[in-house]
Amino acid sequence: ASAQIGVTGLAVMGRNLARNFARHGYTVALHNRTAAKTRALVEEFGDEGSFVPTESAEEFVAALERPRRLVVMVKAGEATDAVIDEFAPLLEEGDMIVDGGNAHFADTRRRERKLRERGIHFVGTGISGGEEGALNGPSIMPGGSKESYKALGPMLEKIAAKAEDGAPCVTHIGPDGAGHFVKMVHNGIEYADMQLIGEAYQLLRDVAGYSPARIADVFRTWNTGRLDSYLIEITAEVLKHSDPKTGKPFVDVVADAAEQKGTGRWTVQIALDLGVPVSGIAEAVFARSLSGHTALREASGHLSGPTPKPLEEAEAARFADQVEQALYASKIVSYTQGFHEIAAGSAEYGWDIDLGAVASIWRAGCIIRAAFLDRITAAYARQPELPSLLSDPRFASEVEGAQGDWRDVIGTAVRQGVATPGFSTALAYYDALRAPRLPAALTQAQRDYFGAHTYQRVDRDGTFHTLWGGDRSEVES
Ligand code: NDP
Repeated sequence: ASAQIGVTGLAVMGRNLARNFARHGYTVALHNRTAAKTRALVEEFGDEGSFVPTESAEEFVAALERPRRLVVMVKAGEATDAVIDEFAPLLEEGDMIVDGGNAHFADTRRRERKLRERGIHFVGTGISGGEEGALNGPSIMPGGSKESYKALGPMLEKIAAKAEDGAPCVTHIGPDGAGHFVKMVHNGIEYADMQLIGEAYQLLRDVAGYSPARIADVFRTWNTGRLDSYLIEITAEVLKHSDPKTGKPFVDVVADAAEQKGTGRWTVQIALDLGVPVSGIAEAVFARSLSGHTALREASGHLSGPTPKPLEEAEAARFADQVEQALYASKIVSYTQGFHEIAAGSAEYGWDIDLGAVASIWRAGCIIRAAFLDRITAAYARQPELPSLLSDPRFASEVEGAQGDWRDVIGTAVRQGVATPGFSTALAYYDALRAPRLPAALTQAQRDYFGAHTYQRVDRDGTFHTLWGGDRSEVES
């Protein structure tokens, strides 16, 4: 046994992660169901470091130093269970299986429980950054036991992305499924970020009347300010790109039906279960669904409404600045909602997640990396028990500064007939939080009327019911 770590599942993610470990001086045992991939990796990249290619589960396990650290990078779902069933019987107490796939955290909890009985650590680990991140430094979100993190943490810290201050983008998130939960919400926030960027783009196109190349310049400018982030940066790149075949803006030749793999949907499903309002993420998931309903869209193409009229040059420039404000304020709201979901998951499952640490490990390596995350870490450092990001005075004042423009942009979008579900739902969330009274009072009254569901009063303790079908007097229940 000579390898400090092993990787099984050598598709794009696994192979790059294995190379990343090897480049940091670790001896890496390699395994893949189809052995040709193992051989190809060694042939192509064998000189990058020390690899031990193996062709059977027994050989793979035998190649690993104890306690064994076995990273599984296979297709999430049944394949993960198949691989665990294959390897677990060969492992001994204290060994660790690290699942770096995009598993559902409930599956991770189930797997962890089962393996714990046998003394094996199961470390469900979120890995973000795509194939490029896997190779050059991803953001890593490991769950599992504290003990497993002692053995794994130092290796993960080596291969993780490094933030500007040099800190590795990895931290022990919490027990069992905590890592995959946080990765799931990360992806949900990513959906919301992308939707908001899409809406900003559409407004600049239809209302400001800008070309994609001009919008690319606007995004590039935004990327030098508080919106500085990977997604804004690549948006500028994409918008600048022309289709080599037709010479048209690339964005105009891509079919406008967005796909999804499922983590955004999970974020919303779990939020519904936990009772957390993540309306921005939900709108982003729904916007992708709507875009893919080709028949529905074709059948609705004749529906009447305004056609956007592009603004004059000077007005357009002013409008572009307002869109930046709207985008930033909406972004604060989506992060507020995402962090609320993490806090709720942490409370529900007893994970004790450090929210500021989560924001800090997203600063590099992952898709939502952004300068903005430093502000979230700082907010939780100022007040660890912050009930909501919007309770932080600095975020609150930033939204306050942006909200005039935010409202104007949404008003313009509504008048011109440009759909902005992300911007609009974010503002609705903000206004609902601010409201001294919500129409929920009426909802409760209605519920009491048709279903005798009872209500509480603002002026007295107790639970009440009005005899709606009778003399409408109130009874205490
Ligand atoms: P895929 O999700 O395409 O999975 C392919 C790998 O899974 C291959 O090594 C394949 O082996 C193996 N596999 C599939 N079924 C089985 C099985 N029944 N038994 C054993 N092995 C099996 O690969 P990716 O590299 O794209 O992703 C790996 C994991 O990382 C996934 O869980 C994914 O969700 C996650 N992830 C991916 C990201 C990305 O950007 N692609 C980003 C972050 C996480 P074989 O070669 O024999 O077919």
